[in-house]
Amino acid sequence: MNPKIIMRILSQTDLKTKLRLTKVIPKLGSGDEIAKCMLCPNMCLYVCPVFDAERKLTVSPSLKSRIAYFGGEEAIYHCLPCDACKENCSMGISVNENLRKLRSGKYAEKIDSWINRISRRVEEKDGRFLYFPGCRTFEFGLFEKTVECLEKFGVDFALSSEVVCCGMPYYEIGDRRYLEHFSKLKKVASGYEKVLSNCPHCVATMRELGINAEHLLSVLKPLQIGGVFSYHDPCLMARKLGLVDEPRNFLTACGLEIIEPVFNKKQTACCGYGGIYRLLYPENAEKIAERRRKELNFEVITACPACRTALKGKDLVELLLEVI
Ligand code: SF4
Ligand code: SF4
Repeated sequence: MNPKIIMRILSQTDLKTKLRLTKVIPKLGSGDEIAKCMLCPNMCLYVCPVFDAERKLTVSPSLKSRIAYFGGEEAIYHCLPCDACKENCSMGISVNENLRKLRSGKYAEKIDSWINRISRRVEEKDGRFLYFPGCRTFEFGLFEKTVECLEKFGVDFALSSEVVCCGMPYYEIGDRRYLEHFSKLKKVASGYEKVLSNCPHCVATMRELGINAEHLLSVLKPLQIGGVFSYHDPCLMARKLGLVDEPRNFLTACGLEIIEPVFNKKQTACCGYGGIYRLLYPENAEKIAERRRKELNFEVITACPACRTALKGKDLVELLLEVI
């Protein structure tokens, strides 16, 4: 905004308003997107799973952005992040990105104790690729199964006990501890050709850090299985990694018939267990999961530990282990 306009506004306000405005003005650099939302007929309202679960306009993407922008604290945390808003926004606005920038570490202790509770030291081994499970793979009991699967496929993988969490939960919450996690992960990853992970969010985070990271799917091989399944696209796998055809081609090569849910591919519906939302608002996360389960009519196959648990389905790794 033009500094002259800011000065004119400030000169015409009382002291209390001036004090409030001094908090808002430093954020005006990103105000363009707030203005676009104010002029938009809320195109993203009906794709936001958080709005659907909580049924309050104050957590709709557009309104929570505005509330957060003008200093509202609580609205900042009501986001998964699934990027359904960005996918459906003709301006390409990521509400989650905007909210994340305004967070300042509230709930960090909660995240810290959760990570400490689920973290495990793994037995180190060397190999060509680094296998980085990510905290949700541990939390949802997929670590041992994935190691068994990689071994049976003869993948030359390494395990490191130095990094357990990629730092995403701290990054999402705006707590500076993410810097320590990011730099440790970059250092460890630099010793390997590429990093493999079960978790699409970990892969997306690592790619943002410039790490050559791939979803585990890239090293798995199809085996004859057969059967009829629904495939659920994990939000970030479809929207950030662009992996839409690859899992379908893989499952078809396994002899599976895939029944597509109404909301699929890049228009998938979130399972509710992404990001930090489930840790802060577990009841609402369950509502989102339940709604998604109703859209999937057959046994669910997916490629993310969190989605698999929320939807009471099977991860690719579990599917393959049944026939190896
Ligand atoms: S994020 Fe995009 S679609 Fe949603 S209200 Fe703002 S401009 Fe409209
Ligand atoms: S990222 Fe998902 S949960 Fe967050 S505002 Fe957008 S649609 Fe809603």
